[in-house]
Amino acid sequence: MSFFSIIIIVVASIIGMEALAYFMHKYIMHGFMWSWHKTHHIPHKNKLEKNDLFGVFFALPSIIFIFIGIRYLPILYYIGVGIGVYGLLYFVFHDMVVHQRIKTPLPRNISYLKRIIQAHRLHHAVEEKDGAVSFGFLYAPPIKELKQALHYNQSHPKS
Ligand SMILES: [Zn+2]
Ligand SMILES: [Zn+2]
Repeated sequence: MSFFSIIIIVVASIIGMEALAYFMHKYIMHGFMWSWHKTHHIPHKNKLEKNDLFGVFFALPSIIFIFIGIRYLPILYYIGVGIGVYGLLYFVFHDMVVHQRIKTPLPRNISYLKRIIQAHRLHHAVEEKDGAVSFGFLYAPPIKELKQALHYNQSHPKS
């Protein structure tokens, strides 16, 4: 496999994972798995949250793909690597940069980082299952749009 196609597969897997994470977060974590995810929305002083188990769960396909890929199918190997890289990026941006669970020397005033930090803060403006906005982790729509959506949700609560 050429270097170029490897890069394409890894990048496509990362983009695919962001899309998958968006839908999982919106419809599953804020759906029937809320009991795990709410541990991330409600303030607490514990070091770990039940919500962290989602990260463990997401690591499984990466490990399985890499193992099967090494023996039989190189493309699966690189998809597995892409999923793993996504997991790492998720941890760096969501846990280190946004929530600062581990202190990071990363500058926070880069416009991209400022945007995802603000977008994710808006996600956490809602501590309940319904009414939240901004479900992505590496990509965020313009902050203005998110604020409008949040305002709309707050004035039209689901009953
Ligand atoms: Zn959430
Ligand atoms: Zn968060």
